[in-house]
Amino acid sequence: MLRIVSFHPFPDEALAPVRECACCGEHYTVKRRGMRLFSGDTLEGEICPDCVLAGPVGAAGKVRERIAAGGRSGRAPAEGVERASWIRLLRRRALLLEETPSFSLDARQAAVRETRERR
Ligand SMILES: [Zn+2]
Repeated sequence: MLRIVSFHPFPDEALAPVRECACCGEHYTVKRRGMRLFSGDTLEGEICPDCVLAGPVGAAGKVRERIAAGGRSGRAPAEGVERASWIRLLRRRALLLEETPSFSLDARQAAVRETRERR
């Protein structure tokens, strides 16, 4: 099961750093509040507002799409042991998402605000 912990980007960062979503693999910038996925106390990665709004099942679907696409659009290792562990990591992430009943209301509201700012 995964939970979302939101964070404020450092105020002294002049340029918002580009972040990579752990679910869909897209790059995005944080306007006000970023969101991180935790499994227990372990950081799983960051999650973009679109995936938060898609919900755990929708986000898991995006992870599985990436595995099915072979990571051609992302930075997946091309072959060998590294590629096998990349697939293992994403499969585990999809399973963790699938056993998550829902994302918190707080996270969903923050995601709505983030997508609004983007437009
Ligand atoms: Zn995403």
